[in-house]
Amino acid sequence: MAKSVADFMEQIVARNAGEKEFHQAVHEVVESLWPVLDQRPEYRKAKVLERICEPERVILFRVPWVDDAGEVQVNRGFRIEMNSAIGPYKGGLRFHPSVNLGILKFLAFEQVFKNSLTTLPMGGGKGGSDFDPKGKSDMEVMRFCQSFMSELFRHIGADTDVPAGDIGVGGREIGYLFGQYKKLRNEFTGVLTGKGLNWGGSLIRPEATGYGSVYFAAEMLGTRGETLEGKTCIVSGSGNVAQYTVEKLLDLGAKPVTLSDSNGFIHDPAGLDREKLAFVMQLKNIRRGRIKEYAEKFKGATYAQIDPSVGHNPLWSVKAQCAFPSATQNEINARDAANLVGSGVYVVSEGANMPTTPDGVKLFLDKKILYGPGKAANAGGVSTSGLEMSQNSLRLSWSREEVDQRLHGIMKAIHKACVEAADAFGTPGNYVNGANIAGFLKVADAMMDQGVV
Ligand code: NDP
Repeated sequence: MAKSVADFMEQIVARNAGEKEFHQAVHEVVESLWPVLDQRPEYRKAKVLERICEPERVILFRVPWVDDAGEVQVNRGFRIEMNSAIGPYKGGLRFHPSVNLGILKFLAFEQVFKNSLTTLPMGGGKGGSDFDPKGKSDMEVMRFCQSFMSELFRHIGADTDVPAGDIGVGGREIGYLFGQYKKLRNEFTGVLTGKGLNWGGSLIRPEATGYGSVYFAAEMLGTRGETLEGKTCIVSGSGNVAQYTVEKLLDLGAKPVTLSDSNGFIHDPAGLDREKLAFVMQLKNIRRGRIKEYAEKFKGATYAQIDPSVGHNPLWSVKAQCAFPSATQNEINARDAANLVGSGVYVVSEGANMPTTPDGVKLFLDKKILYGPGKAANAGGVSTSGLEMSQNSLRLSWSREEVDQRLHGIMKAIHKACVEAADAFGTPGNYVNGANIAGFLKVADAMMDQGVV
């Protein structure tokens, strides 16, 4: 049995060689949980931590498809079914060339704790492919999705495993995936979330992750008697999460001033408004263009290309009070984190999953800023996916107001659970410990109840 965090991590690294993002995610959680295990030796005896770090099932498959030129392409498909102690596996699909086993295992692992925090009965999973939708025609994306689902359909189901979207998987992809599932299974069920409104989707699902991360920031500010009104906010990414983060910031009177993609970022000191956001949505969701065009269209806005070789991203040096990283993992390193704090940021709400490196997280915690880690702050997306599953089971559709109200209520409940768990284990204000501990306890107790399975 492991005697220390370092000892435990040595075993994890040896068993999961080369999966560095997975090691990173496990390390952060295990550090938070070690004091809990000291207080609850029954978890140690039942090897709950060892079991929670081992996926219940990993599915890896070939995805062959034919491109528009008639050439055969071969991609790799994955589904990680991480933990089903509190409900069916639930978590998104990511289509991005960087996708590999380690990245999906980190995401599935995070998802277990996140889903537990939502108050809804959902286990954790994640999947995807190294397919790159960028530059592909709609027909190529459709053929790829059909081939992907031709294998995945055997492993998923409304009561077994319910995938959703993530990077590179939006409404278009979910449509093609759902169509193929329905054809193969000959059944119309809520097997995927993020569906279109006419065929089982939920209002507010596209908005949910971004809205939720802003609600979480508002709750954190509330602990200091402050609101988002008038605050300058920097947002990274320009996809689903970033777009609806900006929308909710505008609703609450804040001033979002940046957006980015993997090539560069725009800075608009006058602030984005609804008209500018509508342009971004058209640019990114319909024309599938690059964020650079924003600076060509709107006077006063500037565009800067990102140069990965310089070791930091100047986006995180823009003067602001709040930051909403909403692009991808490890987009804020220690230097970026220092730049953020140095330029006045004291609220970080993570829309993306694990966007901050461990050194960056340490700096945020040392400086005692309001830091909401992704597994709490971006849980609004999967929460609303859970609400979509409930509506599908009821064969009912709730109104926009009803779903938004439930989402808001869930984000407040997650915030409260994090604050209480952090307090109870002697680290008040530490949302990292709060989220990890509160998320873990529910899953661990369910695993104890269900025996060694
Ligand atoms: P989208 O595909 O809609 O947008 C992703 C954005 O991030 C794009 O602007 C993209 O730029 C940028 N990006 C992606 N990869 C990189 C990279 N390696 N370096 C720099 N920029 C990058 O995805 P989402 O908005 O759905 O997801 C964003 C983040 O939020 C992810 O971490 C995801 O896991 C997380 N998340 C999403 C949820 C959801 O409901 N969608 C739920 C919870 C978390 P480019 O166009 O150049 O690739």
